[in-house]
Amino acid sequence: MTSTTRIWTDIDFDRAGKQVGWVNLPHSVTRSAYGMIAIPMAVVKNGSGPTAFLMAGNHGDEYEGQIALCKLIRELQPERIQGRVIVMPAANLPAAMDGARVSPIDHGNLNRSFPGDPERGVTQEIAHYIDSVVFPMADMFADLHSGGSSLAYVPFGSTNEGPDAALNKRSLDALTAFGCEYSVIWKHADPRYSPGAAIKRGIPQIAGEFGGGGSVNRRMLANVEAGLRRLLKHMGILDMPTAPAPKTRYMNVPGIDYHVHAPDHGLFEPATDLGQWVKAGDLCGHVHFVDDPGRAPVPCHFKRDGMVVCQRHPARVVRGDCVAHQAIDGV
Ligand code: CA
Repeated sequence: MTSTTRIWTDIDFDRAGKQVGWVNLPHSVTRSAYGMIAIPMAVVKNGSGPTAFLMAGNHGDEYEGQIALCKLIRELQPERIQGRVIVMPAANLPAAMDGARVSPIDHGNLNRSFPGDPERGVTQEIAHYIDSVVFPMADMFADLHSGGSSLAYVPFGSTNEGPDAALNKRSLDALTAFGCEYSVIWKHADPRYSPGAAIKRGIPQIAGEFGGGGSVNRRMLANVEAGLRRLLKHMGILDMPTAPAPKTRYMNVPGIDYHVHAPDHGLFEPATDLGQWVKAGDLCGHVHFVDDPGRAPVPCHFKRDGMVVCQRHPARVVRGDCVAHQAIDGV
């Protein structure tokens, strides 16, 4: 790919101090012929030191990270840091303003769009800008997620495992410093996802699922806010007293067979609670048919032993919806 981005900004990434502005994606539509999508970005810099790139709103309906990063932008004081912090609190801005997972413009899922292509629409253009302009400046990448409208999570910090053991160790150390009650290692790194794209560029990365159901979890928001400060302290960027990290339990998701999908269309009645440990073959839930009450509900079952860390939030399902997934102990 030889195309370069059309996204432009007045932000000077090398200037000392705090700049809160926008990166601008030209977008020509009926109501605005020469308009642009102004995606918020802040750069806080002082002296020389590493660069942390902090992002939320990759999925627009996941809110703890968006709120935590807006607070951090207002609170970070350049004179208290050594290095640089780049913040994008609403990376897929059209999705964030729509309160939706994907963009209302092109239905693009930013977290399936890396490394992006500036010739393939708005969401791909955003991914391409992050991958080709922002990632090369970053020494650490944090992408703050939640379950969004359709999933509820046992809140956890996470990292994705790639092929480079030394890079994996740096990511795991960052995740431990961030500090959550649960730390989950995804045992794969799809390069279409932001962590996979960061891994391809040799950048340590953390993420997390800090709530879900389209709501804001107060306890996890506080954890994310403290965790961001612990992460910046871990990098030597921020020299401030931080709350100690809670003791963490390391878990991992080995593969897709730790997911359960709805076997039919209807109303899903879960048979377990979030955080519950289950065995392979245990009942996950039933799909009910309220329009055909004489018909027996269709069960579905867990395929593996593990803890239920994620459940579908809305009751109505269609065949193929993820209704639960599990994690197991261990790094
Ligand atoms: Ca997400």
